[in-house]
Amino acid sequence: MYFIEHLIYLLSALLFVVGLKQLSSPATARRGNLMASFAMLLALVVTLVQYPPITWTWIVSGIILGSLIGAVAARTVKMTAMPEMVGLFNGFGGGASALVAFAEFLHFLKDHTPQASLAEASTIQLGMLIGAVTFSGSLVAFGKLAGWITGNPVTNRFIQTVTALLFVATLGVGVYLVLGEPTLPLFLVFTAGALILGVLLVNAIGGADMPVAISLLNSYSGLAASAAGFILGNNILIIAGALVGASGMILTNLMCKAMNRSLANVMFGGFGVEGATAAAVGAEGKTVRSVDAEGAAMILGYARSVIVVPGYGLAVAQAQHDLKKLCDLLEERGVDVKFAIHPVAGRMPGHMNVLLAEADVPYNKLYDLDEINDMFPDTDVALVVGANDVVNPEARNPKSIIAGMPILDVDKARQVIVMKRSLAPGFAGLDNPLFYLDKTFMFFGSAKPSMQDLVRAVRELS
Ligand code: NDP
Repeated sequence: MYFIEHLIYLLSALLFVVGLKQLSSPATARRGNLMASFAMLLALVVTLVQYPPITWTWIVSGIILGSLIGAVAARTVKMTAMPEMVGLFNGFGGGASALVAFAEFLHFLKDHTPQASLAEASTIQLGMLIGAVTFSGSLVAFGKLAGWITGNPVTNRFIQTVTALLFVATLGVGVYLVLGEPTLPLFLVFTAGALILGVLLVNAIGGADMPVAISLLNSYSGLAASAAGFILGNNILIIAGALVGASGMILTNLMCKAMNRSLANVMFGGFGVEGATAAAVGAEGKTVRSVDAEGAAMILGYARSVIVVPGYGLAVAQAQHDLKKLCDLLEERGVDVKFAIHPVAGRMPGHMNVLLAEADVPYNKLYDLDEINDMFPDTDVALVVGANDVVNPEARNPKSIIAGMPILDVDKARQVIVMKRSLAPGFAGLDNPLFYLDKTFMFFGSAKPSMQDLVRAVRELS
């Protein structure tokens, strides 16, 4: 049975890796997700058969309750609330690993042999540290995104010093628990220190940067699961945790790169806060050309090629279905329509891909930044819907706070239509020179009603 158990674990691990690989493209992501879920089911069944629980009541109740909560949450969550849900689920993962560490610590106190104690004790402390930080940090992230607690970064010199001291003190207690005499009260102090650390660390990050923090916490939850795997001596938990840890870390790195910011800047910098004033000053005295639905319909309806650039505003307004209708109408008129997807457009990784998939926009019409930027100069119209920072040419100015952030070269298209409600800045708080170009037309209004008017106006074109 030992051999079969490990063979099935190996199969599960293989399916995890292939499933993860398939998640990297929208066309195969659904299959990848199913594959990885099946692998987890396989691993769970084998573990339960191999190590039957003392009582099945708790296991079965847990599975039923967990599946119910998961299914209802996944079915009812709004696209814009997805980061909150992911944040909460990460927290549960970290919390579960912390509970495993706690239970194992109680066993450890009862009967540990001096030879085994060093390795065992260090994995328990590590599991508790990462698990507890992930748990409390994810709850704070959830609270910030849901608007339950302030979205402003709560940080200053004093808080930073307290955090650093608490970190050193908690580590010190952890080391003593490993090398010295472990006791339950000391372990509780260690746990409390880790929980408070999670709160302080995530509270210092602004609400709009939360998706990056959540992806980092996701990676931590994987590391915590891996540590739990070491504690329990379970290989598949170690592998699954390591995969989550590594992929979360890669995602965090990609997001930081796409914003041209270091992780330290996201964690400790107040991006977008001072920028808001700069925007107001920058906008003074400049004029823009605005257009209404009929004017925009004329420009779009008689173009040969259009590139649509979706952004956060499209998600907030939930205008993706009307946008799809517009694109269908334009294609019926012989217009070539493509979509340009910036890696950090919106407020979570893959936000635009998911939004457009929901509206049945075919994957082959979506182009990444690297693929599409060369096409803008040969494009008649770039239609920007609720996007701002990702099309801000200020990124080419070395003195700007978004200097070096890769942008979509919308300003190189022959004409530009920008749909948004005002000249207000985006997430980075910066004024956008794109709005003031001669070739740019601002179509003011909330994206959904504006898009519906535009669809009507294009239908009425001869
Ligand atoms: P931005 O936040 O730069 O701009 C969005 C624009 O949408 C705003 O300027 C706003 O203008 C407009 N808007 C808001 N509501 C509506 C509405 N109802 N109808 C029409 N327009 C609306 O978004 P981008 O997508 O361009 O850029 C994303 C930003 O978020 C980047 O700075 C990125 O770094 C950051 N970010 C992204 C993450 C990710 O994972 N994707 C994670 C963390 C940060 P107005 O108020 O005038 O309507």
